Amino acid sequence: MSEPSVEPSADPQADPQADPLAGVSYLPSFATVEEERRHRKERLAASFRLFGRFGFDEGVAGHITARDPERLDCFWVNPFGMSFSHIRVSDLILVDDTGAVVEGDGIVNTAAFAIHSQVHAARPDVIAAAHAHSIYGKSWSALGRLLDPLTQDACAFYGDHALFDDYTGVVLDPEEGKRISHALGDRKAVILRNHGLLTVGHTVDEAAFWFITMERSCQAQLLAMAAGDPIPIDDETARLTAGQVGTPGIGWFSFQPLFEQIIRAEPDLVE
Ligand SMILES: [Zn+2]
Repeated sequence: MSEPSVEPSADPQADPQADPLAGVSYLPSFATVEEERRHRKERLAASFRLFGRFGFDEGVAGHITARDPERLDCFWVNPFGMSFSHIRVSDLILVDDTGAVVEGDGIVNTAAFAIHSQVHAARPDVIAAAHAHSIYGKSWSALGRLLDPLTQDACAFYGDHALFDDYTGVVLDPEEGKRISHALGDRKAVILRNHGLLTVGHTVDEAAFWFITMERSCQAQLLAMAAGDPIPIDDETARLTAGQVGTPGIGWFSFQPLFEQIIRAEPDLVE
């Protein structure tokens, strides 16, 4: 496996609107599909450990999925009922497009299959999707509205997230997952009203980082609204900032220190 290359790019001062990571080739390349699969599974297990550390778990709710690099209609996911904080690479299960577990031990959460199978089917560009019942995301979701561009970080979602405004109970039917993926469209995230957040990415790293920073953006807006009358960033500046902090490359890059942190603290996750 080769490490991602960071190539010198044009002087960022020359064009203040340039993508700060325009010169970064953020997708690692792999010699074999086995290496690529192993890399995705390690990133996925690390994401679960981080979600556990951040307290995003609520009983048995929540799932992060990674599309298999070879069997494109299959995705890797956490076994139903296992703590995020204990998940190792060897615990991940592979689920096909009928919901059958085709590799690994454990059962698949029906809701995980109903939602994620439809998101992966509707978005061939999406490698990973993350959903959990994190406290600030679900609190914000009850308001039934999009996030405002209140902070630089929140601008990652400016014009790039949607609201699924139709809670009808636990998602057990893939048809409901289809409706969620329709609401998501080509965006990076969707707020599921009265339920929580769902984010997607072109890498596992990106999907996990968008979830983490979206949860914190929900927290920031709730805090700001509780304390006073927050001043949003104007549309033009929010759009500019979105191009600076909301690209797939920035999402991937922002996850790297978190990965380094968790792999050092909990090296057994790769077992
Ligand atoms: Zn859920």
